[in-house]
Amino acid sequence: MVPPTQSNTIDFDAAKLQRLGFSGKRPPKLRPLNLVDLRRQLTLQLQTSLDVERIVGLFFAEVQRLIPLDAMAYQHQSSDLRLEYGSRSSHSAGYRLTHEGEYLGELIFRRNQRFDEQELNQLESLLAALLYPLRNALLYRAAIQSALRDPLTDTGNRIAMEQTLQREVELARRNLQPLSVLMLDIDHFKRINDEFGHGTGDEVLKAVANTLKARLRNVDMVFRFGGEEFLVLLSGTCREAAALVGERLRMGVLELQYLVQGRPLDLSISLGCATLLPAESVESLLRRADNALYVAKREGRNRLSMAG
Ligand code: GH3
Ligand code: MG
Ligand code: MG
Repeated sequence: MVPPTQSNTIDFDAAKLQRLGFSGKRPPKLRPLNLVDLRRQLTLQLQTSLDVERIVGLFFAEVQRLIPLDAMAYQHQSSDLRLEYGSRSSHSAGYRLTHEGEYLGELIFRRNQRFDEQELNQLESLLAALLYPLRNALLYRAAIQSALRDPLTDTGNRIAMEQTLQREVELARRNLQPLSVLMLDIDHFKRINDEFGHGTGDEVLKAVANTLKARLRNVDMVFRFGGEEFLVLLSGTCREAAALVGERLRMGVLELQYLVQGRPLDLSISLGCATLLPAESVESLLRRADNALYVAKREGRNRLSMAG
């Protein structure tokens, strides 16, 4: 009996691959196939996943049942994807993949021996089986990514924040590593909206977010918490180091020369800093950071306050 798994999708995917003879425990050497059979199998197999890395990896493994390869590279810059399989070698055949004019990335096959005409024809025929699944997987990847981003500031949104926080807190606890957060809020932001309009307010929000990202090592750890509030997650960072990062962010915003009607705006942020306590929940950590932020506001703004 196979115990039930948590996700039907993964189960279905695995089952289907197993039926086709491509389970995780595949035999070390696969039977070579002719072009027609391989293309048919590839078409079926590649449909079983929406994960770009898995699809391209499967393609690399299966193509070799017909055409020996030493390496293959795939890249799609706008998706931030760069995949490499095997080791580099002297001869290469590169393809720019498109589907109805839509760019799907570049694929390069490498080998120590030259590719002959027949092999290139076969590669091209097999590539046709890759296009649809690859396009679907790229679309899926883009949809997942945009579902986790705040479109205005290009920072993580609340969903991303909750997922990442939960994961990082668990990791920190397991690895006995420190973890800190900075909750920050733009000072007197309402005045900017009132004086210059909501459009300018939006631009200022973007400029502040960009300043935060430019001053942080890991830009993936900035989240828009709400209106003009952001959360910065600092994994592996103790209280003192987090305070230094917070100061650097505060100075960054203070030094930001944002011009409206030719005049620089006075911009500043207030921050609350909290470091994870043993056995503390995510909610409690955020509450302490928020309380510290409130203290920073009360004590005059444009400052950082440490949670007790
Ligand atoms: P404080 O220093 O106490 O934080 O003062 P504040 O004016 O920044 O605080 P308050 O919370 O009163 O105002 C925040 C304002 O942020 C109110 C809201 O209209 C504005 N805001 C929230 N989200 C957005 C947004 O996406 N775009 C723009 N332009 N304004 C926003
Ligand atoms: Mg504010
Ligand atoms: Mg606010």
